[in-house]
Amino acid sequence: MKVLIFGAGQLARMMYLAGAPLGIEVSAVDVGARIVVNPVSKMPLSITLDEAMLDADAISVEFEHIPEDLLEQARKTGKLLPGMEAILTGADRVREKRLLERLAIPNCAHRIVDDIAQLDDVVDALGEKLILKASRDGYDGYGQWRLASRQDLPALKQELAGLDLHTVPLVVEQMSLFDREVSLVGIRSKDGQVKFYPLAENLHHQGQLHVSIAPAPGCSAALTAQAEDIFTRLADGLGYIGVLAVEFFQVGEQLLVNEIAPRVHNSGHWSMQGADTCQFENHLRAICGLPLGDTQASGTSAMVNVIGYEKLNLELLKIGGCHLHWYGKSVRAKRKMGHINLVGENYAKLGRIMLDLADYLPDSHFPHLRAEGQKLQSI
Ligand code: ADP
Ligand code: MG
Repeated sequence: MKVLIFGAGQLARMMYLAGAPLGIEVSAVDVGARIVVNPVSKMPLSITLDEAMLDADAISVEFEHIPEDLLEQARKTGKLLPGMEAILTGADRVREKRLLERLAIPNCAHRIVDDIAQLDDVVDALGEKLILKASRDGYDGYGQWRLASRQDLPALKQELAGLDLHTVPLVVEQMSLFDREVSLVGIRSKDGQVKFYPLAENLHHQGQLHVSIAPAPGCSAALTAQAEDIFTRLADGLGYIGVLAVEFFQVGEQLLVNEIAPRVHNSGHWSMQGADTCQFENHLRAICGLPLGDTQASGTSAMVNVIGYEKLNLELLKIGGCHLHWYGKSVRAKRKMGHINLVGENYAKLGRIMLDLADYLPDSHFPHLRAEGQKLQSI
């Protein structure tokens, strides 16, 4: 079978690697240059984009921000999975909020702002601690601004003055004082069967995911059921096929949806070593109409992103349970260069492995590793 992925980054690469043993051939589309490439070598293939779409058994995406004419062309083939609505919803925070409202799914108090002058009223309504998100094209904390106090509002307005809010409005949310962030990665098959990975706990730094722990420690059965129920309502509501990720803020025993990602997700990378079938394989299975694989965790896992850093000492590979996934990209500040999966038999052992790894990596680029390792050791 042949699968075509819009986007030629690390997610397409990992789908390619997961598809190979199943005989699924994955190619990627560099959507800027509109050429078809091998997702690992990035070498152009001798096939046009139009031919590749005709040739594919399924077409999917590794990120949401795909030019609409390309998506439309893919939709017309009848092979685009997940469907157009799901992808457009993931790409547009206003659509996303509308979907959450329609399905009565709890999320942060918010307002849609398409004129800077509305911000004063928003502060009156939601308070002065706000996060402002461009409705489109944001990721990893880009396209976001924070307001800490009303005093800073004039400066913020000045900073936003150049934006065309009529074309790309802002979603302005109340800052949530959540206890932690968790996410649920799951899959829905063509016949509507859903499977879930365990909840992952996600640790961010400057709006960017740095570490995921799965299964998230201390999840009650009720919390897991709440997350799975929300996932199912979203996936059923969208007629979703493939892997879907739902990011939550946990406040006590209540989950608020932060955002949804209609694709494989960074907080599911741990599943490559830590679950029976990884998210990449399960996405391919779902969109190719194959039976879904088991999602059970085979131990306790941590996924550590390597961000803006390439000077890894590969001696770290001698740590038991440590696996490197390197994406082969050129280094830039805040760029995800690769990730390290760690698997232990229990939280204490995983904590020990994290501390061993921390000895090879600078705290400056890996802000959560040591502290989280210590915390897990005491569970
Ligand atoms: P991105 O598309 O960049 O992942 P998110 O909306 O997930 O955008 O925001 C990135 C991170 O910023 C979140 O994971 C969270 O840590 C923080 N954040 C976002 N919205 C809020 C909010 N309303 N309250 C508190 N923190 C937030
Ligand atoms: Mg996010």
